[in-house]
Amino acid sequence: MWAMQYHYFDNAATTMISDRALDAYNSTAREYMANPSAAYLPARESRKKLEECRQNLADVLGTDPSCLYFTSGASEAITIVLTSLLWAKIPGQVITSSIEHEAVLSPLAILREKGWKTETLNAPGGFISPQELEKKITKETRLVAVMAVSNVLGTVQDTKALAEVVRSKEKEYGRSIFFFSDSVQALGKTGLCLNESTVDGASFSAHKIHGPRGVGLLYLRNRNLQVLSHAGGQESGIRGGTENLPAIAGFAEAASELSSDDYDKVRLLNETVRKELEGSKVSILTDGKRCTPYILPVALHLPSQVSVRMLQDKGYLVSAGSACSNNERGKAEAVFRNAGFSKQAGGILRISFSRYNTLEEAQGLARALKEI
Ligand code: PLP
Repeated sequence: MWAMQYHYFDNAATTMISDRALDAYNSTAREYMANPSAAYLPARESRKKLEECRQNLADVLGTDPSCLYFTSGASEAITIVLTSLLWAKIPGQVITSSIEHEAVLSPLAILREKGWKTETLNAPGGFISPQELEKKITKETRLVAVMAVSNVLGTVQDTKALAEVVRSKEKEYGRSIFFFSDSVQALGKTGLCLNESTVDGASFSAHKIHGPRGVGLLYLRNRNLQVLSHAGGQESGIRGGTENLPAIAGFAEAASELSSDDYDKVRLLNETVRKELEGSKVSILTDGKRCTPYILPVALHLPSQVSVRMLQDKGYLVSAGSACSNNERGKAEAVFRNAGFSKQAGGILRISFSRYNTLEEAQGLARALKEI
């Protein structure tokens, strides 16, 4: 198996499914094969299982299960929210940031085609300023989308302060503004608690936390989102389509495994690589403050695609940016440029950790980086 050959440091792209999540997936696929929407007794069991999983995830996220809707991943959750704006009779304005994921940028392009105006917040060093948001919100603003944690820089936004700006502008203009936070890289990697937050919507993905691929969550504070398609009416009409119950069970299991011990372990791995690289030609883009330890961006004096190959030859897998953008190198680099790292942009690597990485591996990676 390739995983035995390589030391895997691309966990922001995807993670290895945990044994428990895989067991939950397999046992649910076998034991709960009935469609949760059917009328007979085994279907009732499937429905019960579905609601148990929703409750478990709500407990981990610190919210009410009625606010959670299962989707095929974060991309779908984001698309549901952003395309809901297409119902508006008169296009308005959407504000986002210069470091958002393609999953946000792509539906934004559709909105633009339909006459919506889009405004972009700067993110110097990877951070978005509430003051700039305050200046950019206008009477026409209908939605603000700012990611909770950057998938390439690891910077953590002050979501609470940004939400406060939105709430105060709502009062000033006497109309609601939807505040959306793509929280894929925040789950298990920051002290996220939705109950303490005033975001209106958020997206999550199972495969970033050792759960299965193809399952995610949309959090909605209120249910009054007018979506484009209800399909079969599942998930209260927010996301129609037969629920992927085995994957949902795997997601719930993976979420229940998240622990502060793992967070502390990853912090140690991050600090180890940082320390080992001190005084070397490899520079680190962030100082670690207001950053998740799970993501560490470094810059080398080599094109990043070349460094990725050289590290692979030494047995280490890292990324040149976001997995979704790797085939379009310009896009990965654009995020770094937008964050003010123009000089380094072509040579940046993203190291991303998981609880399965060891201290020896982290030391080995730092050595390999210095050698290349
Ligand atoms: N948003 C961010 C910040 C991500 O890192 C990713 C994953 O690549 C996504 C959205 C898309 O998630 P998914 O693969 O579940 O659609």
